[in-house]
Amino acid sequence: MNTATLSAGTLALLLLFFSLFFQTFQQTDKLQEEDNPITRFQNYLRINTAHPTPDYLSAISYLKSQAQSIGNLQTQIFEFAPLKPLLLITWKGSNPTLPSILLNSHLDSVPAEPSKWIHSPFSAVRSSDGKIYARGSQDDKCIGMQYLEAIRNLQLKQDFQPLRTIHISYVPDEEIGGFDGAAKFAASKEFRDLNVGFMLDEGQASVNDEFRVFYADRSPWHLIIKAVGMPGHGSKLFDNSAMENLMKSVEVMSRFRENQFDLVKAGLKANSEVISVNPVYMKAGTPSPTGFVMNMQPSEAEAGFDVRLPPTADPDLLRRKIADEWAPATRNMMYQISERGPIRDNMGGPLMTATNGSNPWWAVFENAITTAGGKLAKPEILASTTDARYMRQMGIPTLGFSPMTNTPILLHDHNEFLKDSVYLRGIEIYESIIGSLSSFNEVSTF
Ligand SMILES: [Zn+2]
Repeated sequence: MNTATLSAGTLALLLLFFSLFFQTFQQTDKLQEEDNPITRFQNYLRINTAHPTPDYLSAISYLKSQAQSIGNLQTQIFEFAPLKPLLLITWKGSNPTLPSILLNSHLDSVPAEPSKWIHSPFSAVRSSDGKIYARGSQDDKCIGMQYLEAIRNLQLKQDFQPLRTIHISYVPDEEIGGFDGAAKFAASKEFRDLNVGFMLDEGQASVNDEFRVFYADRSPWHLIIKAVGMPGHGSKLFDNSAMENLMKSVEVMSRFRENQFDLVKAGLKANSEVISVNPVYMKAGTPSPTGFVMNMQPSEAEAGFDVRLPPTADPDLLRRKIADEWAPATRNMMYQISERGPIRDNMGGPLMTATNGSNPWWAVFENAITTAGGKLAKPEILASTTDARYMRQMGIPTLGFSPMTNTPILLHDHNEFLKDSVYLRGIEIYESIIGSLSSFNEVSTF
């Protein structure tokens, strides 16, 4: 063996050593990349739980594995309706006789049109400026994972022990009304057994640096009004045709809509504080092979409206208005109201959670945000609806809250995204909230 061979051998060994070193280094780097709060969030976002075929089983199995990786958490799966599983994760408190805390989020999301997105809606691509693009990134997979990440940190970094039991519920079907999800869950024995004292559900993004919080939802009604009358020749002037009567109603309703909208435009009320009445369809006319028969006034005409009532509105008063003014029998009108969810709680009160001294949980929640260095905006009514209404119906104080500041409101929009820094900040906020709520012991009956 000569010197040259030796050097070649040494060189080969050195090369082997370095290549092994870099491989290990790369692997470690990859492992780190694969398991941190952001990648865990991205992995959840990649599970397609959009309607009409939400993959609930994969979502639940992923969340369950996350809970197992934290440890010290129990998991249960319920099925209150066939093929509509619900996951409950529980962190037992040191005093389980105290009413518990429930953190809710829904598993499903609305559909997305991939061709209208800059990144595929279930790829959860993270752009160079930290935006994570995915359907559900704001509504509401962020909170579903943030709850778990906050608990992970409380357990593993802070060695925190809750006094009250904390539950996280992952419910199906919120986006299609929650009738087979949160509604059945809230009405179940299993729910009663949880002895929930206070609950958090989803909220909405805030475009400034104040966190938004919601103490009520508006209740949706589907209203159909229908007019019948004598048909007649298109050239004839006569009273009480179906179209004439329907159009009179539409005029009256448009005036009501305008009055409500004026209050918003004048800044006297928020969008969510007025009754909205929006026409969504009209059905009339006699079809012909080329369109509609033009020389005949039809004997039936119908219109549909999306109506939303704030909890401060009087539903009986609105029902009377519909019967007397919007679809009066004196004009051959009929109507059908389909209430999409509860409008009053089980005690007959409006579906609202107090945000003052009468609700001891409010101060705990508010202080937790301040302690974490956050600012809270004036509490609002949500213009749309969430599952929170079913819990408020049971008399449980429930706030809608998603910790997203300086974020455009993109729920149900194309290119829904959430910035990584905003997501991580949200975890810190929940650490403070969950820590405070689960330690709250001043009034043990609450
Ligand atoms: Zn939602």
